Amino acid sequence: MTATETGVKSSTRNSERLFAEALELLPGGVDSPARAFKAVGGTPRFIESGRGAFITDVDGRQYVDYVLSFGPHILGHAPDEVVDAIRAVAARGVSFGAPVEGELVLARDIRAAMPSMEMVRFVNSGTEAVMSALRLARAFTGRDVVVKFEGHYHGHADQMLARAGSGVATLGLPDSPGVPASAAAHTITVPFNDLDAVTRLFRTRGDQIAAVILEGVSGNMGVVPSMPGFVRELRALTERAGALLIMDEVMTGFRAHHGGAQALLGVTPDLTTLGKVIGGGLPVGAYGGRRDIMSLVAPAGPVYQAGTMSGNPLTMAAGHAVLAALREPGRWDRIAATTATLAEGLRESATRAGIAVQVPQVGTMLSVFFSPTPVVDLASATRSATESFKKFFHAMLDDGIYLPPSPFESWFVSEAHDAAVIERTLRAADRAFATARM
Ligand code: PLP
Repeated sequence: MTATETGVKSSTRNSERLFAEALELLPGGVDSPARAFKAVGGTPRFIESGRGAFITDVDGRQYVDYVLSFGPHILGHAPDEVVDAIRAVAARGVSFGAPVEGELVLARDIRAAMPSMEMVRFVNSGTEAVMSALRLARAFTGRDVVVKFEGHYHGHADQMLARAGSGVATLGLPDSPGVPASAAAHTITVPFNDLDAVTRLFRTRGDQIAAVILEGVSGNMGVVPSMPGFVRELRALTERAGALLIMDEVMTGFRAHHGGAQALLGVTPDLTTLGKVIGGGLPVGAYGGRRDIMSLVAPAGPVYQAGTMSGNPLTMAAGHAVLAALREPGRWDRIAATTATLAEGLRESATRAGIAVQVPQVGTMLSVFFSPTPVVDLASATRSATESFKKFFHAMLDDGIYLPPSPFESWFVSEAHDAAVIERTLRAADRAFATARM
């Protein structure tokens, strides 16, 4: 909506004023905690529009955007392919509560990139995808225990709010009030990349474990790749114990690799959860995997899961536009190459400023930890210097570069981030690292 459409004069409409009113209307002024600038201080910017690599706030300032709606906009903001697809569907009716062919089209797109997803069920968020996949895993195995890793974020379902990443890590919350002890009683949390801990757990409780769920490349405590062979070992352990391996690719799907973290790591999970990129920027989630497991989902089988808006034509068309574009030879690889160039440039810039940083980069994701030693788990991520990140964040923001407002969130790169955009980002980083040193 433009200033004219809201009827508010642009001179009185700015982020400070809107946020002050938002604090009265919305808890914390936002609809999702990660947006609130709690970790970095200051006022969140109210965004008016986005195009390509750029967003513009209501104050009229333009930024290079590395949040990209926390991942979905891999082609940039408002790419013609997606806008045209949404327009065409919107004109024909946006939802029917009946099957549409778009569901098959997007399911085929997903299966072509991730062959482990023999069957797919669309839902409306990553949270919902994870909740549903866990219910299914328990039904399939007849067991209750679920194993997750510290710092991995799997949405806000009760059972997953144990030592979680993303906003939970940013706000330093151990767990959330309101989660009954019984809901988390069957969730066991293990340090990421600690194979000994998982092996010990399987030795003692292997026959009770329904599933191990993980981000193959963690993106919710900053980017923390799995150690070589770690996920393959999890695959072997789960298989031996009759437990399922669930790869949560809500963030990593079409980002860590075109075929997700599972393609990157060469692992075939039993179930996969997706979200973000596959919805072309509209609300979405999906879970899928082995046909014998997915055949238990209602109405094919007894495991109930449903959704009024699930598989809606608008989302299906937007998602298809993105996945079809990413299938064109070279397009995804170029975005990953741009991300690698940015990561290398950031390392060089920090070195010139005499600052020790880690810049892990996987595919089209990266993050910057102010740490002299590699970050391998939640403990090492939270030891990184968050004060330096704060200064760096604000210096970049003042210079027109919009980063995720927390050291525990991934940066995302899009196809619209061209050489000039990267150059502009690195020039700003040279100045910002100097500020972070002070
Ligand atoms: N799983 C992972 C790995 C995520 O990164 C997220 C969100 O960031 C979720 C699940 C939850 O997805 P949503 O926010 O769509 O509920």
